[in-house]
Amino acid sequence: MMINEMFRGKSRSFIVELGLLLVIIIGIFDYLLGPDFSSLIAYFIPIIFVTRFAGRTAGIILSVTSATTWILAEILYNPDYIFFPVHFWNLLEKLGIFLIVVFILQKLAKIEDEKNNLLSMIAHDMKNPALVAKGFSERLIKGKVGSLTKRQEEYARLINHELSRLERLIIDFLDISKFQSRKFKLNSIPFDILSKIKNHIELLRIEAENKNISLHLECPEVSMIQVHADVTQIDRVISNLVGNAINYSSTGGNVTVKLSAQKRAVLVQVHDTGKGISKEHIQHIFKPFYRVTNDHSGSGLGLSIAQSIIEAHGGRLWVESKPGHGTTFSFTLPLSHTGLSKI
Ligand code: ADP
Repeated sequence: MMINEMFRGKSRSFIVELGLLLVIIIGIFDYLLGPDFSSLIAYFIPIIFVTRFAGRTAGIILSVTSATTWILAEILYNPDYIFFPVHFWNLLEKLGIFLIVVFILQKLAKIEDEKNNLLSMIAHDMKNPALVAKGFSERLIKGKVGSLTKRQEEYARLINHELSRLERLIIDFLDISKFQSRKFKLNSIPFDILSKIKNHIELLRIEAENKNISLHLECPEVSMIQVHADVTQIDRVISNLVGNAINYSSTGGNVTVKLSAQKRAVLVQVHDTGKGISKEHIQHIFKPFYRVTNDHSGSGLGLSIAQSIIEAHGGRLWVESKPGHGTTFSFTLPLSHTGLSKI
């Protein structure tokens, strides 16, 4: 639980680097104190930790590194070691253990991939009938197949609305699968995230005002903040976070979007004074389909997609919340080489 909280939101590369560092430290102790010092457990803890927080591929990389470090430490401790048959078998046994781990992790990754591919195929096949049915409902609403009674038109609109939701859900689901199998292609270009956020705030201001929520922007005194990223995908992240902040706040609340420049990244924070998210829920909030309550329409896919998008850009997205006081979602994005421009 504690470990989950410590590493929530940390980027994959950070976790892999930490895992590698741990393995090297164990290896150094092994080399200094001799083969009796370490045990399988010492090397297995970093592998379990990295597989849990950075995925199976990272776990495989660390298993190979652990095997190499362990064997190397023993050989360096006693170079004659390798020529004693009993020790030679001992080294082979160690190598074997890690090969089994790599094999199991690879098998698990393959099963996961096959499951994702199957689900994507089903979702993909569902998309076309949903689009066709939506097209027909639009023709009905527009009166292209004769005039409708008020009741018929109302039903046609409801069908159209539900089909649009289904279409959105399918698209989101397909995107999640692509992100999970790392097949999502980013179309990155340099753009000004400051003006992007200003536009979003203007677009969402009416929605916020309808709920009597005030929307603010806090940013450094610069004319632009340039990042190298996929505009459409970053748009999606911003509208999800600001949209959620408005949706999950009660009347009279405040939503503040704050931009600050770090050394090599821009930090974007979306803070609301809403009901907050309890500890019990916060650890699951980025999982696909996870929703705290069903009092608003939604799919529970938005945050999971947002996190995948930010991580695919080399940034990170995390949440802090105080139930009853509000929530802050923060994300970082690497600055492009132009970075900030003064006014
Ligand atoms: P959706 O909003 O479609 O349900 P998300 O993935 O965007 O899906 O959010 C998942 C869940 O996280 C939401 O159902 C909601 O319970 C919770 N949540 C998201 N943002 C906030 C927020 N700003 N304040 C409180 N709860 C939030």
